[in-house]
Amino acid sequence: MRELVVISGKGGTGKTSLTAAFAHLAEKNVLCDLDVDAPDLHLIAEPTLQRSGPFLAGHLAEIDPTICTGCGTCKEVCAYGAIHQEEEHFVVDSRHCEGCKVCVALCPEQAIDFPERLCGTWYESDTRFGPMVHAQLDPGQENSGKLVTLLKAKARERASQLGLELILSDGAPGIGCPVISSLSQASLVLLVTEPTPSGLHDLERVAELCRTFRIRSAVLINKADLSPEYEAAIQVFCQAREIPVVGSLPHDSAVTKAMVRGQAVTEGPDTPFGTKVRQIWTDLQPLFEASPSSLSKESKS
Ligand code: SF4
Ligand code: SF4
Repeated sequence: MRELVVISGKGGTGKTSLTAAFAHLAEKNVLCDLDVDAPDLHLIAEPTLQRSGPFLAGHLAEIDPTICTGCGTCKEVCAYGAIHQEEEHFVVDSRHCEGCKVCVALCPEQAIDFPERLCGTWYESDTRFGPMVHAQLDPGQENSGKLVTLLKAKARERASQLGLELILSDGAPGIGCPVISSLSQASLVLLVTEPTPSGLHDLERVAELCRTFRIRSAVLINKADLSPEYEAAIQVFCQAREIPVVGSLPHDSAVTKAMVRGQAVTEGPDTPFGTKVRQIWTDLQPLFEASPSSLSKESKS
């Protein structure tokens, strides 16, 4: 089984539009949206929900008002200021509870329950591109890395059940915990960047992540006509790091028009931009099988 993870250091590089186009071009794949804080692949893929379930992570103190005698011990011992009094009862503010369990241990009445915390919801859906696994982390919740790990496991399970050989994942922006989780077991990471100072800076960071985790990577320069100077700088960086550049795409209104139609840019009438994306998809295929050393040779040629 192969897994292509599409990431970018920053948002707004066109990562999700390109992932949707690849999902359209890949004949059989499981689509996976790992941007659990702000998922948007569903806007193009238009999934039909098949299954969903709670994402539980960590624990949360909950005071049973029928047992609580109002002694106030829990409020005194909570180092996070998560407990306050409401009339004769004490209550836990879930936004501030860190799940340390101190109040649970010290309550003389055993009035405090400690259930797992509901942090979000995972979904399994069908789309016109194939099955899709996605999720939504609840506002203010952490543990996005754990949710990414859960989605990746579900995507692998679904691919195995259906005999599909490719998982295509839209990663989260940045280089934080969810991105690191998304790199796990990836066959190839496509780094989508744009030729700007921040694009180059973020590319350097995500390329370093891939190098640290010894995962083969390739670079796609999107909106390449924004700055020939920075496009050249990205090419120089990639050559120095022996990372293959699979293509440069211009800024093109075809992407926005396709999004407005709820389509991938390769769906609908042929456009010069869509043709270039098709070529990049074709050029990516040998990189799945290439050894790191042969990737280096390609980048040098
Ligand atoms: S320590 Fe227990 S009994 Fe005392 S106020 Fe807190 S929940 Fe109520
Ligand atoms: S579990 Fe810890 S953080 Fe949460 S309310 Fe109890 S003492 Fe405070």
